[in-house]
Amino acid sequence: MISGQCLCGAVTFEVDAPDSHLGDTRYCYCTECRRANGSAFSANVPVPNESYRLITGEDAISEYEYSPGTVRAFCSKCGSPVHGKKADDPDHIRIRLGTLNQDAKATMTSHAWTSEKPAWHTIEGYLKRFKHGADGTGGTPK
Ligand SMILES: [Zn+2]
Ligand SMILES: [Zn+2]
Repeated sequence: MISGQCLCGAVTFEVDAPDSHLGDTRYCYCTECRRANGSAFSANVPVPNESYRLITGEDAISEYEYSPGTVRAFCSKCGSPVHGKKADDPDHIRIRLGTLNQDAKATMTSHAWTSEKPAWHTIEGYLKRFKHGADGTGGTPK
C-alpha cells in the first residue's frame, strides 16, 4: 500500500499497488502539465479507481476542468496538484508521483510532448522521446 498527501497535509490518500509498483508512466512536457505543476514536466500515473482511497481532505479538493472532460484536482489550501481525471478513461484516476510519501515504484517509459519542453530544461538518458503524445502521433491525450 502506498500513501500520499498534498503539501499542507489536508489531502491524504492511499493506493493499493502490488509490490508498491504503480505501473508504466511517462514524463510529460506539454504546456498544460508544465503550468499545472509549475515545473518542466509532470510525472502522472493512472491507477484503477478501485485501488485509490481518499482518506482526508475531500472538502479541500478543488477541481479545474481545463478542457472538456479533463479535470485537474488540487488542494485549495496549499495548491498541490493531487490527481486528474479524464472522461475518456473513467476507470482510472491519475496520481501525481510527487505527492507520494514512500519510495513508490513506477516504470518511466518515455518523454512525451517534448515539442513543448521549455528551453531551460535538458532531457538526458535513454528513454524514448516523443514530440507529441507517447504514441508519437499526437493523438494521445495529455
Ligand atoms: Zn494541501
Ligand atoms: Zn502533459
